[in-house]
Amino acid sequence: MNMLIDEIKDTIRQVPNFPKEGIQFLDITTGVKHPQAFKDMIDYLYEQFKDKHIDYVAGIESRGFVFGAPLALRLNAGFVMIRKPNKLPAETISESYELEYGTDTIQMHADAIEKGSNVVVIDDLLATGGTATAACNLIKKAGGKVEAAAFIIELTPLRGAEKIKSQTGVNVVSMLKYDLD
Ligand code: AMP
Repeated sequence: MNMLIDEIKDTIRQVPNFPKEGIQFLDITTGVKHPQAFKDMIDYLYEQFKDKHIDYVAGIESRGFVFGAPLALRLNAGFVMIRKPNKLPAETISESYELEYGTDTIQMHADAIEKGSNVVVIDDLLATGGTATAACNLIKKAGGKVEAAAFIIELTPLRGAEKIKSQTGVNVVSMLKYDLD
């Protein structure tokens, strides 16, 4: 890594009240358009997993794709897409999870990974952990082992890492911790 953690944090724009009142949105578009910051983010993730014999990196749509695909290339791993419903063309498996109001679903191709595969789940940001918990459950449903759930940003007061660990047994890795909820 070349930049300091605080310098990388400075590349991430904060937008108040998006997409709704009271949410402080952490916008990674300004981070990934900064070539050194983007490189340092991928380097950070690579260092966490380079010795872990990763078969697949599973990115959660859509910002998880931005970090997952370059990480997969670096690790000589395959890249798997976890998507919102009705986007994947072949047979899928699904997992639903609770939102503040209602539920949401994510899907993966039924043949995306082989049983026993070692998988890293990636998204840009960990908030409550609902999305990543569902993604870990999806990998397990397909017979995979989840090495870790990894994020560029973690909003630590929301305790998403604890939720993922207690509900799935999966460890969390995150690069930039924010004291925001
Ligand atoms: P959660 O399931 O609560 O952990 O929410 C994580 C998902 O919602 C990720 O895909 C994030 O990209 C998105 N998200 C949640 N909160 C924020 C936020 N404050 N800023 C940017 N993205 C967010």
